[in-house]
Amino acid sequence: MKKHNFSAGPCILPKEVMQKAAEAVVELDGIGLSLIEISHRSKEFVAIMENARALALELLGLEGKGYQALFLQGGASTQFLMAAFNLLDKKAGYVNTGTWSQKSIKEAKLIGEIIEVASSQDQNFNYIPKGYAIPSDLDYLHLTSNNTIFGTQIKKFPKTDVPLVCDMSSDIFSRQMDFSKFDLIYAGAQKNMGPAGTTLVVIKENILGKVSRQIPSMLDYKVHVSKDSMFNTPPVFAVYVSMLTMQWLKDLGGIAAIEEINERKANLIYSEIELNPVFSGFAAKEDRSIMNATFNITDDSLKEIFDEKCKEAGINGINGHRSVGGYRASMYNALPLESVGVLVDIMSDLEKKG
Ligand SMILES: *Cc1c(COP(=O)(O)O)cnc(C)c1O
Repeated sequence: MKKHNFSAGPCILPKEVMQKAAEAVVELDGIGLSLIEISHRSKEFVAIMENARALALELLGLEGKGYQALFLQGGASTQFLMAAFNLLDKKAGYVNTGTWSQKSIKEAKLIGEIIEVASSQDQNFNYIPKGYAIPSDLDYLHLTSNNTIFGTQIKKFPKTDVPLVCDMSSDIFSRQMDFSKFDLIYAGAQKNMGPAGTTLVVIKENILGKVSRQIPSMLDYKVHVSKDSMFNTPPVFAVYVSMLTMQWLKDLGGIAAIEEINERKANLIYSEIELNPVFSGFAAKEDRSIMNATFNITDDSLKEIFDEKCKEAGINGINGHRSVGGYRASMYNALPLESVGVLVDIMSDLEKKG
């Protein structure tokens, strides 16, 4: 049966990417060996790593602008610590927009002074704080571009001369932006890029080397940059599949093309949530994420029917995170518009029943 996969992460990837990835596990490009049994120093894998790094910069429009792309391990969660370790000298500012921001703050506090410059905790993170003051003496300001759990997304980034660090785990490659505004971008692969196991780090080289502390090698961006993201054995499978997904996106027309599709998907579900009294949206309208739509059912007596209809239609992964409840439809790059259509039809049928 055809499935419609709204999983929040790990999540849907393009079918042709999965097919090609499966083939490469058996045999990589006719070389008589599997992708996962060859040396990471082989010319085949070095080419894959270089292609992945180049594609990341190309898609973000950052080639030749002083940036380096790395594929590291330890998830975005390790970047919470690593960003601070490499960039925090005296104090840094954080915008608290939910669970992932809070986790990044907790780790950074182990390293130095952290100021929470704004927070939306007062309303259970259903909006993005705006118009807050940013002290000019911060080493950096840390933002979370898309709040996967709460379904909010920063639409307009603050203007500041302070270096910007951004966790883009759940909306990297989903919308156009001037990415050169950021000094450090990181994203766990498993939401919009590939399988779990690698994290994309895009760093402006001239921001490094400004802190005096000793940095352990594995946590030192400079070490990874100097070794072309091959300081130790990289997660070869995760990097390969990420490369395939980036290639798929490039062939599709890049971020501009996927953004248009992502907006159509988001418009489809949000207009249903708005017009259908059986459902109510969780996030403030102007801050709604085009990746993760969070909503509740207003009539509890219809919940069972809704869940059953979704199951019958092959819909997977729309239960909300436990801290929000309700439902969450994650609509990452690889999710077809058709899948959102199937979900919206069920929602609209429910209104007729109610
Ligand atoms: C999923 C997620 C993370 C955690 O990523 P890991 O790779 O599991 O460490 C961090 N930030 C955001 C915004 C996420 O969505």
